[in-house]
Amino acid sequence: SRIPRIVILGAGYGGVVTAIRLQKELNYNEADVTLVNKHDYHYITTHLHMPAAGTDDPKNARVNILKLIDEFKIDFIKATVQEIRPQEKKVILDEGTLSYDYLVIGLGGEPETFGIPGMLEHAMSIRSINSVNFIREHIEYQFAKYKREPHRKELLNFVVGGAGFTGIEFVGELANRIPELCKEFNVDPAEVNIYNVEAAPTILPGFDAELVDYARQLLEDKGVQFRIGVAIKECTEEGVVLASGEEIPSATVVWTGGIRGNRLIEEAGFETMRGRVKVDEYLRAPGHDDVFIIGDGSIFMNPEGRPYPPTAQIAMQQGAATASNLVASIRNSQLKPFKPSIKGTVASLGRGEAIGVVGKYKMRGFVAAMMKKIIDMRYLYIIGGIPLVLRKTKL
Ligand code: FAD
Ligand code: NAD
Repeated sequence: SRIPRIVILGAGYGGVVTAIRLQKELNYNEADVTLVNKHDYHYITTHLHMPAAGTDDPKNARVNILKLIDEFKIDFIKATVQEIRPQEKKVILDEGTLSYDYLVIGLGGEPETFGIPGMLEHAMSIRSINSVNFIREHIEYQFAKYKREPHRKELLNFVVGGAGFTGIEFVGELANRIPELCKEFNVDPAEVNIYNVEAAPTILPGFDAELVDYARQLLEDKGVQFRIGVAIKECTEEGVVLASGEEIPSATVVWTGGIRGNRLIEEAGFETMRGRVKVDEYLRAPGHDDVFIIGDGSIFMNPEGRPYPPTAQIAMQQGAATASNLVASIRNSQLKPFKPSIKGTVASLGRGEAIGVVGKYKMRGFVAAMMKKIIDMRYLYIIGGIPLVLRKTKL
């Protein structure tokens, strides 16, 4: 009989781990595995706040996919997925079509703007290497422009919409970067404003209150101005309008107000909530035993019936579980329910500073920053071994 064909869409956290595990677990000629990704590199999304602010080189956040997989075992196709047709078991790429017996969707998420007028058109978001290069260059350009048009004070106003982990990690870096740019362009730091606007009554809603206070104090001391308990209700070319009526003039709005699943998933006809599919205990789309959806495109419920937050941590674990269940499917053996093991959360607040909860330990400051480095290095080790850790770690 024909060898089953597995197609993995997306080489993010979920997709890369699925591919690497499959190449380990499958026997010779047991399945044909194809990995499809828009770029020939994987990006380390959890580092993107740094190159976005300009505090680290974007090349530290990208890894050549062919360095991670064994081409004798996995076919890599650099292509953009255009459409998924689950009924026909086909995927349409920008160049060509792939058929599959088993599909893994690991296409990640997209910014969720909740229909806020102008947000999609005027704000930037931290989501890929290209998008963070754009943000970094845009910020530098505002300084250059201000030197030519010094009456335009709004060029030095930087607005970040949303103070979830992405927003907080980014303002932490931005607060480190601004003094460098002030020096470079000979601008008085007092002229520059970093605003972080959060709709919820607190920054980092839902996180440990003591650590939230620590983060807020630290970031305020670094110059970040928070607007808390007030939503952005509009974004224009001139800046943002808040629900309170306050207008913040700015040429730079970075939106970190939330993410949704990749639109290809809902376009494929799966039932979604904010673009995500509520998957079964084996991470399969309901009614489609041949389609696994992992990472930011899926919703997996915790025992209390609430969705786990979409994180790299969970996407990786789902990748490993999916690889095992694909092998089991092919061998006609019993699939194993996915059991996530959440180790904790550590978020950076800029150079040498972080907050985190790991197991029952709360940490802050330098210790937390070291923990964040260890977590990042562990990930590099999992996907690329010691050589990758050494190549990509900024010490
Ligand atoms: P992704 O990693 O987003 O990968 C999706 C892949 O699909 C990409 O390679 C993309 O190029 C490809 N793709 C997309 N569309 C197409 C298409 N049409 N055709 C072909 N390929 C396509 N989580 C944590 O657990 N810890 C952290 O410390 C952390 N820090 C973060 C910091 C920042 C700044 C951000 C933005 C997020 C952070 N997260 C963190 C969240 C985490 O990055 C995501 O949950 C995770 O990346 C989701 O993984 P994924 O596999 O679903 O998708
Ligand atoms: P998020 O959804 O977690 O946070 C978005 C924030 O924006 C929320 O606090 C929300 O109240 C706010 N918001 C929404 N609409 C708004 C409006 N109109 N005006 C002002 N504020 C508004 O999104 P995220 O921060 O991008 O995080 C996405 C996922 O990635 C989460 O699961 C997060 O845990 C994970 N992540 C983890 C880390 C880490 O572990 N270090 C870092 C970044 C992201």
